[in-house]
Amino acid sequence: MTRPLFRFAPSPTGRLHAGHALSAFLNRDLARATGGVFLIRIEDIDPTRRDPAVIRAILDDLAWLGLISDRPVRFQSAHMDDYARALDRLRAFDLVEASVATRTRIRAAIARDAAAGRPWPADPDGAPRFPGDAAVLTAAERSRLLAGGEPVAGRLVMERALAIARPQAPSPADWEEFDPAAPLDPARRRPVPGDAAAWGHVVIARKETPTSYPLSVVVDDALQGVTHVVRGADLFAQTALHRLLQTLLGLPAPVYHHHRLITGADGAKLSKSLGSVSLADLRAGGATPADVRRLVGLAEQPGAS
Ligand code: GLU
Repeated sequence: MTRPLFRFAPSPTGRLHAGHALSAFLNRDLARATGGVFLIRIEDIDPTRRDPAVIRAILDDLAWLGLISDRPVRFQSAHMDDYARALDRLRAFDLVEASVATRTRIRAAIARDAAAGRPWPADPDGAPRFPGDAAVLTAAERSRLLAGGEPVAGRLVMERALAIARPQAPSPADWEEFDPAAPLDPARRRPVPGDAAAWGHVVIARKETPTSYPLSVVVDDALQGVTHVVRGADLFAQTALHRLLQTLLGLPAPVYHHHRLITGADGAKLSKSLGSVSLADLRAGGATPADVRRLVGLAEQPGAS
């Protein structure tokens, strides 16, 4: 049997907060409990937000918590060729639409359609579900923009992606949630029906970089041999999209555990954008790593005295 492999994969968008600590601790604890491997991966694909000081601070916060990667930390920014190859495979299936639907153009189209009594449905995150450039621009406008050298994003042509994936797997977006109390017991897995279509034509390659979060996450999970994905419940619904990409790219399916989110006193999800408590603040305030474990609702570290 292959060794179970877990990873904590933060995007370096700011300092880590308590919610990240829960995720990181769970991954490391499960790796230890199963005799598996714990990896840290830095998801720094966004060139506009790649700040070495932030990355250093993240790794430092994790080291303070006692969380060290069992193998060298993987930085996604150093592996763009891997993502470009995966993108090429999707392109070979004719699944990537060159998109000039900017945020402003999409907003205008949504307003126009709402005024005409045709509101756009929402995706599982509550954002408008994007149905393709044709919903935003006429064919002539689109050709003119493309010919004029407009920056182009790559979007997954969802209907075609599902049509191509279905013969390989009848429900190509389904996945299994494992039980963290019995991570290696297949009998304790729960099948989840995944609805990838609900995401519409998602951006699969951004304008400024030839990849996206969903594409690089599935490529790396496969390249690194991740067997168990443990992350916050905010990514639960998006797992359908990850599974579809895995099916299209012929990648193995890990099993998943989406854990509870840490909420602030007002019930809001803890995140840096809400200016919530960072590990740096907790540490500066005199908290110990054991205090952080308690704060996020975990028992004392297994094996700690
Ligand atoms: N990088 C993602 C984030 O920080 C998490 C990726 C994952 O665990 O799949 O939200």
